[in-house]
Amino acid sequence: MKLKTFWLKSRISTLVLGALLIFTNCEKENELFTEETSEEIIVTQEKDITEKAFPDKKGKVTEITYQGQQLMVEEMDGVYVFEGDILITPEELQNANKSTGRTQNLWPNCIVYYSIESSLPNKQRVYDAIAHWKSKTNLQFIKRTNQTAYVNFRKGSGCSSSVGRTGGKQNINLADGCSTGNTIHEIGHAIGLWHEQSRKDRNTYVNINFANIQAGKDHNFKTYVQRGEDGDEYSPTLDFGSIMMYGSYAFSKNGMPTITKKDGSTYSVQRTALSAWDKIGVSRMYKKVCGTVPNMSGYYKANDGGHYYVRHIGIDVYWFGEHPNGSWANIFKGKLDGNKITGNFYDVPKGKIQGSGQLKLTVNYNSTKITKTQGSNFGGSVWNKMARPSSLPGTRTAGFGVRNNINNLTARWYANDGGYYYVRQVGSRVVWFGERHFTSGRPAWANVGYGIKIGNNIYLNWADVAKGNANGNGTLQLKMNGANTMTRVAVTGGFGGSSWSR
Ligand SMILES: [Zn+2]
Repeated sequence: MKLKTFWLKSRISTLVLGALLIFTNCEKENELFTEETSEEIIVTQEKDITEKAFPDKKGKVTEITYQGQQLMVEEMDGVYVFEGDILITPEELQNANKSTGRTQNLWPNCIVYYSIESSLPNKQRVYDAIAHWKSKTNLQFIKRTNQTAYVNFRKGSGCSSSVGRTGGKQNINLADGCSTGNTIHEIGHAIGLWHEQSRKDRNTYVNINFANIQAGKDHNFKTYVQRGEDGDEYSPTLDFGSIMMYGSYAFSKNGMPTITKKDGSTYSVQRTALSAWDKIGVSRMYKKVCGTVPNMSGYYKANDGGHYYVRHIGIDVYWFGEHPNGSWANIFKGKLDGNKITGNFYDVPKGKIQGSGQLKLTVNYNSTKITKTQGSNFGGSVWNKMARPSSLPGTRTAGFGVRNNINNLTARWYANDGGYYYVRQVGSRVVWFGERHFTSGRPAWANVGYGIKIGNNIYLNWADVAKGNANGNGTLQLKMNGANTMTRVAVTGGFGGSSWSR
């Protein structure tokens, strides 16, 4: 059995390690070691999953000047190793004006370019780690073609990475013992995360037991402030569940904990997945870099065959979508946060289907593509922005609706502005798609309404969408005069129509 001594203190015998790996989380684990020295017993209670660049090596500890600050580092194999698995290369020292922190050197447009060396064993852990990052964060990972700045995954003697984007080729080194979880951790460094115990407020949550730390490793236990590095806290408290948190026994020289909670107790860490706060933290950290997508307004074609006319005003995103064969039509209103949109869609009676529900969407950072991340009862899942066709689906008869019911507005209405309004009411929610009557080409104007009905009053936000040529938006208050007529009470934004009937 080839043992991954990398994970554990090398002083422990191979035989003992084998037993440990088999009996992890088993009570027998302790029995196995009770006759051994107390030093080893304690170590084996906590599997050390902390990443190390050079697990079997001790480098010469030297002080270097980096980012204008003095840093204690270990020199190993021509690079400076900092906090165990953070690499500073001689090239980076040359570029001393570059930061490697959590507030600078982030990846522009949230795109991390990468390559994987063909000689790296078990590439699946890299694929899995990247898939994890893509599914849990806004970051995109794209295979490098000719980009100057990129992450290169390669075989190494431990697990290590630079912190943040260096601007050139930067290696993530992975020994055979580096798991998918360790790879997720190293990618965390590459996108700019410090270790969780490097928070400037960490002394509120943990004690660092310097007496138990291996000689020359003290520098691994400083906060980013103590090291003079840039950084920020993106979660309110120290997160013991963070994939970036060191375990209680990291760099222990004697099997006693190097980090404990304030009450002296030890704790476990995980290397499985980004924690809830890791995900929120990365989202906050990257908001500055990728926080605003360009205005999305325009025409999108989706993989459900539909035409979508999107209007983006501030953080509000509206659309009207319709299939050219008239089988369905819907409106949507959502809020944009970063590049995520959360909102609701309602089918309207320009089609025949009567669905509604929540949608969660992700927009790419040039607003050319939208992908659905949640909304199982909605057909489309990918929208691509393109030139608006010259000929769009014309006016239709209602696919569903009622008349003579003052409590249900669902119907096709006709207004004195020459428009047909496909209104849908669901509970107190009232939505519509309205467009100037036309038979070919496209309408003079088209708009989406989204609001509520209280008694016989209807309060709406309205916004023109890119099916027509108008570009207004505002509010509307309407009043039901009877079951089949309503009139305008108040308006902002220059809305034409003032009376409706069905
Ligand atoms: Zn690390």
